[in-house]
Amino acid sequence: MGYIELNVLNAPATTPSTLALGIDLGTTNSLAAIWKDGRPVVLHPEGKSGLVPSVIHFPPDGMPIVGREARDHAVADPRHVIFSIKRFMGRGLADMRPELASLPYQASESDNGLIQLEVQGRKYTPEQLSALILMRVHDLACRALGGQDVRKCVITVPAYFDDTQRQATRDAARLAGLEVLRIVNEPTAASLAYGLDQRDKGNVAVFDLGGGTFDVTVLTIEDSVFRVLSTAGDTHLGGDDFDQLLAGLARAELGPLYGDELLGDPGFQQAIRLGAEQCKIALTNDPEAELRVVIPAKRISWRRRIEREEFEALCAPLVERTISACRQALSDAKLEPGEIDEVVLVGGATRMPCVRERVQRFFGRKPHTELNPDEVVALGAAVQANILMGGRRDMLLMDVTPLSLGVETMGGAVSKIIQRNSTIPCEATEGFTTYVDNQTGLDFHIVQGERELAHDCRSLGRFQLKGIPPMPAGMARVAVKFHIDADGVLTVGAKELGTGKSAVVEIQPMHGLTDAEVERMLKEGFAHAREDFDQRRAADLKIEIGTMVRATESNLNAGRAGLDRESVHDLEEAMEHAKQACSGSDLKALQKARDEFERATLPLAALLMNNVAQKALMGRKLGDV
Ligand code: AMP
Repeated sequence: MGYIELNVLNAPATTPSTLALGIDLGTTNSLAAIWKDGRPVVLHPEGKSGLVPSVIHFPPDGMPIVGREARDHAVADPRHVIFSIKRFMGRGLADMRPELASLPYQASESDNGLIQLEVQGRKYTPEQLSALILMRVHDLACRALGGQDVRKCVITVPAYFDDTQRQATRDAARLAGLEVLRIVNEPTAASLAYGLDQRDKGNVAVFDLGGGTFDVTVLTIEDSVFRVLSTAGDTHLGGDDFDQLLAGLARAELGPLYGDELLGDPGFQQAIRLGAEQCKIALTNDPEAELRVVIPAKRISWRRRIEREEFEALCAPLVERTISACRQALSDAKLEPGEIDEVVLVGGATRMPCVRERVQRFFGRKPHTELNPDEVVALGAAVQANILMGGRRDMLLMDVTPLSLGVETMGGAVSKIIQRNSTIPCEATEGFTTYVDNQTGLDFHIVQGERELAHDCRSLGRFQLKGIPPMPAGMARVAVKFHIDADGVLTVGAKELGTGKSAVVEIQPMHGLTDAEVERMLKEGFAHAREDFDQRRAADLKIEIGTMVRATESNLNAGRAGLDRESVHDLEEAMEHAKQACSGSDLKALQKARDEFERATLPLAALLMNNVAQKALMGRKLGDV
């Protein structure tokens, strides 16, 4: 996967006419920043922290509560508190089964295959829940701006978010009443916050360990243009997993005291989780801390001291997983650790001393920690928002598509319309036509991937173009346009050029893709290249034979009288062989049958041409020709 950023030369150096927010919509916390007095600043309403925990509490009656207060309800009312909703964005139930097992609330699937969570007897989509978080962030930001209602914004998403997940983020913003100027990748935003775009040349590694996800991205800067060389990571590794290590320790010691039944109680679990996180944070500052589980209502108050060294020994395998991903990202980027010039730390969990030390040892250089790792992405989003509002900083961010996009054609092959690694925004159009006479509709199946046959690619959606006027096969002209906007969101439109009939698809894929899945799809594309090519060729030959059979059948009766018996016999036999070859998928047999069929059609073709020429010449003198 790669991302490049385009340097826009001579961008006008104007003062922004209006304001736009930069919003980091995080798994654990969300935050807004804005460009002010020539630099990005985090918005702190009434001098308080602007960090909004991405947590929602649904009281039995009344409005949902978002943020710190919602998180405080986690212990007393765990069934009505929602955490980490970002993981569910644009995902189907099947993708999320492992996660769902540990959640204290019900999940179901909507008609279009996307997840819904049930709280207080009502179903909510991840977009609706994220919208609640965005509304809270927006509300605090406006208060910090003295009551100004700023609705334009840039929102960040992980680099590995696919079209569906980006679209879900946009939808959430729309539900919150916000206007999204652009969706920006988090590592790119972090680089902008550190002003790394000011460097002429160099390689940057952005190491992002948040609450629930981890990713590392390698970017290169050349002539002030950023290009993302690779990204690797683990969507199920974050600060929460470090909490779980301490929670496991607590559970092991609490089990014999309180019994398994109480340990399984959701309130008890949340209390352990919160106690574990507090202890982890304390161990960042102190060499020793207390692991506490306190539930006043149940008269439980348990404590145990733990040294940082003991915690770090527990953490080592998790930290090593982040380093393996760094190795992977570097190897994909074809760089050695020593060739990285800048290392940027993002995400609250990078505050842990053992993480910092290990990253520094791996890259052989001190990472950037000058900016608050919780704020750096929002600050970068504010830099981007300022650029989009016409402010200075001659940098426009652009991405590339990680996988090719296309449509299934007759016979199950894929016609790739936008090739992988195309710079976005981009647009491409391809012509299609009808396959049989008087066909009045066309079915389009949109797929994503590098394989040659549609059933080996990822299905993104289907739609129909109806109302094509009846005409002979191959006469209709249908233009299919793929458009990917700057946020990586795909719109596909089909238009019959004669009548102007058109249809546009709203893509609601059932499953999101992780970066690991993208990589798997790319590798499979390479591994199966030969066999895919053969299968595709076989599919194309079947279509070609089908067209030849129809043309022969409709012309043979008229031409029979003008042909000798042997030619007619050869043609009928070759056509029969070709039809038989189409019932299998043997490429050599198909090729041979097609070639023989074509040869056998030559006398008929010559006769038809002759008839046409004679008709055309009738009544004309030689000199006219
Ligand atoms: P983020 O998703 O970037 O907001 O990161 C949140 C994660 O950072 C959570 O797992 C927090 O527990 C963790 N975190 C925040 N502050 C600290 C700290 N001082 N030490 C260790 N982890 C922290």
